[in-house]
Amino acid sequence: MKILTEEIKCGKSTFIKLKAASLYTRTEIEIPVIVERAKLDGPTLLVLGGIHGDEVNGIEIVRRLIFDKQAKPHRGTIICIPVVNVMAFLNLERKFADGRDLNRSFPGNKKGSLAAQVANSITQEIIQQVDYVVDLHTGGAAKFNFPQIRYDGEHPENLMLAKKFNAPFTFLQNKAPVGSLRKVLNTRKIPVVIFEGGRSREIDEDVVKIGVRGVLNVMDHLGIRQRTKEFKEHEEKTKTVFLSNSKWVRAKYSGMFQPLVKNGSEVQKNQLLGYINGPFAQFQKKVTSPITGHIICLNRIPVVYKGDALFHIGKVSEPPA
Ligand SMILES: [Zn+2]
Repeated sequence: MKILTEEIKCGKSTFIKLKAASLYTRTEIEIPVIVERAKLDGPTLLVLGGIHGDEVNGIEIVRRLIFDKQAKPHRGTIICIPVVNVMAFLNLERKFADGRDLNRSFPGNKKGSLAAQVANSITQEIIQQVDYVVDLHTGGAAKFNFPQIRYDGEHPENLMLAKKFNAPFTFLQNKAPVGSLRKVLNTRKIPVVIFEGGRSREIDEDVVKIGVRGVLNVMDHLGIRQRTKEFKEHEEKTKTVFLSNSKWVRAKYSGMFQPLVKNGSEVQKNQLLGYINGPFAQFQKKVTSPITGHIICLNRIPVVYKGDALFHIGKVSEPPA
């Protein structure tokens, strides 16, 4: 395996710095890439976080895998990129300073914008080498995503990875956005799952644990690294809930938001989900559920404007065959 000019032999590990950009201060921005190769041949798994620089749960999941020596394969290769968008991470922002979204800039262009150049480096140097990808994300500043896997139904292997990850929810979401890493991987027929957990600028221990466990489940499935007995027992106890459709419930009034249901919980059609309250006690309006399903995202900001998303409700579907 060769990344940049570095040859990485079986049984070796290496820390590579992928050149991302030169700042006007003449500072070089580099993306650290950690590559671990087993002595035995096998597939190559890429685990990456921080395509959006403020989505720290994903960054923490990759960091923990490396720190706990769980990114060492028994077979094949594991490539870890804890922070893809180093520049946005420096400011704890989602996007580049020029407002460009790295996850809308793939496959990239050597002569394009800064985001396009970084995307191009990742595509050319890393994506060329990998067989499977786990891409780790979070919700926004307000919206807390209950841990879930999103996968594209286009390739059966995506479903297999999604199932094996065994997050609390597994959500079929076709039509990857243009310019996303997922879109590029789909085009190249490289299986990928997207983990979404928690919200930006926050490390949530439960989300991190679920993310770490899911990545290890995928490694086990690919024969890259065997799971411990503890993991196997957990797998038997918990089963992911499959979702195929969803509905956003938006605020019909501006006011203070008082949710009455927990994120992740099951709700019935017409069930009372919460209230929008006038801060001067001038009104109280009910928020009800338009469908039966599970809350997969909850707005955690106490004040909302009319039109703001309050709940994302996923509709349960039969597990795909
Ligand atoms: Zn993201």
